[in-house]
Amino acid sequence: MRGLLSRILWPALLALCIAGYWLGWASGHPVLAYNVTYFGLGAVLLLLEQRMPYETVWLKNDGQILNDVAHTALNKGIGQMLATVGTFVGVSAVAPAAASGWWPADWPLAAQVALALVVGEFGLYWAHRLGHEWGVAWQWHAIHHSVTRLWVVNTGRFHFLDSLWKAGFALTVGLAMGAPKDVVLWMLAITTYVGLLTHCNIDMRCGILNWVFSTPELHRWHHSRDPVEGNTNYGENLILWDMLFGTRYLPAGRRPPVDIGTDDTVPHGFLGQLAHPFRSWSKPPLRGEAD
Ligand SMILES: [Zn+2]
Repeated sequence: MRGLLSRILWPALLALCIAGYWLGWASGHPVLAYNVTYFGLGAVLLLLEQRMPYETVWLKNDGQILNDVAHTALNKGIGQMLATVGTFVGVSAVAPAAASGWWPADWPLAAQVALALVVGEFGLYWAHRLGHEWGVAWQWHAIHHSVTRLWVVNTGRFHFLDSLWKAGFALTVGLAMGAPKDVVLWMLAITTYVGLLTHCNIDMRCGILNWVFSTPELHRWHHSRDPVEGNTNYGENLILWDMLFGTRYLPAGRRPPVDIGTDDTVPHGFLGQLAHPFRSWSKPPLRGEAD
C-alpha cells in the first residue's frame, strides 16, 4: 500500500489542488479556492510527513520553525503589500486583465498556463542559478540553504530579497510576452503547490515525472552540502531548462545525503538572517568560500 501511495501521491495531490483552484476560479472565488487548496495541501503534507517520512532524521526539530514561518509570512506580506499598492495607484499589480503583445490568447486556458509555466520557468531558472553562481545573490539565497532538514514548513524560508529577485525574473519574462492576469495567477498558484510538494519530507517516487517536473527526488540533491551535487536541479516547477542547460542531476542507485545545508556561516536568529546579505556584501564570497 505504501509503495503504491508513494508513486501516486505527487501527481494526485497536485491534480487535486489544480482541480480545487479551477472550481473556485470558474465560480468566481479564486482567492478562497487558492487558500483552501494551499493550506489544505500544507496540512495533508504535514500529516504524511509523520506517517511516511523519507528521512526520519529530518523529523527532529532544528530550532528554526519560528524563523521558517516568519520568513514565509514576511514574503507573503510583502507580496500582498505590492499587490495592494499596485491596485491603489491604478496599475494592475501582476499583469493586464487581457492578453497583449504576441501572447496566444486564443489557446485553451490549460495550454496558456503550460506556456506561462515554461517561459516563467526560464526566469526562475536563471534567478535560482545566479543565486548559486553569483556571490552577491548567494548571500540571500544561503538563508534558504542553511536548513539542515527538508520539510513542508521551510518551503517558504527565503530571504525577502531572494523572493523579490525570483518573482522579478519570472514575471518579467511572462509579462514581456503579454500573458494576461488570470494566466499569471494560475502560474503563481501552481508554483506554490509544486513548491510544497518539492520540499516535503515524504517518501515519494516520481518515476517518469522526474523528467518533467521539479520533484522531491531531484530537489533533495539540490540541498546537498557538496556544491557539485547542490549546484544542480534549479527548476522550480519544471526541469526543462536544467535538461537544456545541463544541470539536471539524479544519479541512479544513490540516495541524496541526509546531512544537508551549507558550510557557509549563516546566523541562527531571524533578524541576523535578514541582515545577513547586507552585512556580507562588503566582501561577497562565492559559495563554499565563506569563512
Ligand atoms: Zn538553491
